[in-house]
Amino acid sequence: MKWQKIEDAISKATGKTFRSDRPSSVGGGCINAAYHLQGDQQDYFVKLNSADRLDMFEAEAAGLQELANANALKIPAPVCTGVADNQCFIVMQYIPFGGRGDASVMATFGEQLAQLHRYTQKQYGWFRDNTIGSTHQPNHYEDDWLFFWRKHRLGFQLDLACRHGLGAGAQSKGEKLLAQLEEFFDGYQPEASLLHGDLWSGNYAISSEGEPVIFDPAVYFGDREADLAMTELFGSFGREFYAAYQNSWPLDEGYTVRKTLYNLYHILNHYNLFGGGYGSQAMGMMDRLLAEIC
Ligand code: ADP
Repeated sequence: MKWQKIEDAISKATGKTFRSDRPSSVGGGCINAAYHLQGDQQDYFVKLNSADRLDMFEAEAAGLQELANANALKIPAPVCTGVADNQCFIVMQYIPFGGRGDASVMATFGEQLAQLHRYTQKQYGWFRDNTIGSTHQPNHYEDDWLFFWRKHRLGFQLDLACRHGLGAGAQSKGEKLLAQLEEFFDGYQPEASLLHGDLWSGNYAISSEGEPVIFDPAVYFGDREADLAMTELFGSFGREFYAAYQNSWPLDEGYTVRKTLYNLYHILNHYNLFGGGYGSQAMGMMDRLLAEIC
């Protein structure tokens, strides 16, 4: 029943009748159940979650579309979202992965990410909220980057982390950091670039045709350094990637310190999602950042 409803939704969205063979399960995700749907010489990638998470998939589809609008990198085209029985679904283009991330492909990736970041607008934020992992990510438009980062990013995750019991002293350290954010931005005014927003190594792949593909985004318009910082958080994207990015659009030298500030957001989010050692990692990062300004 569920799959038939999803097939109907795909047929309606594309205007072409679609009936699939048995869905095959796709591993590798962190949050959702994922499937490859094939039939009638069409291929789709489908993620499922409980019906109350429809909003998360609607935001993901809008994010994929926004990334595609920038025309910089290969993005799975969103097809439709909806609810079938008690599950919500997102359907997008299926892209066969498995190409090699060799030096020239990673250099292309670096160049294309810089191109994505050149897709800018005046205000920071986005037209709708979305999620980072499965945590709510507020995106109210703001004119001021520091105000945006303080209120909708670091402050938001710090609040959550304190409510989730992040160790003694977290609140005062966090407040001190939030009060002194300006110290990290002396002479640096970032543009409002379109960001993937969750660019760790699990959210890109190389297609079988050798193109870098990014997916599972948490998009908003903000400082491009935040995307770069995350590429360095859980392993690195490699020398060629960074050299090509720098060659296309050099980074300000203050990035080396600010990247800890930007990654603190993700480590706090990991603490909020998974607990455990991410709490002490976040505390250590706050200590390092405060030491920069004391
Ligand atoms: P989750 O939202 O659960 O984190 P992902 O969006 O990361 O799930 O997708 C899970 C896995 O499915 C990815 O690691 C990737 O290997 C594969 N995948 C993601 N998008 C596509 C796609 N459009 N086509 C083919 N495979 C995909």
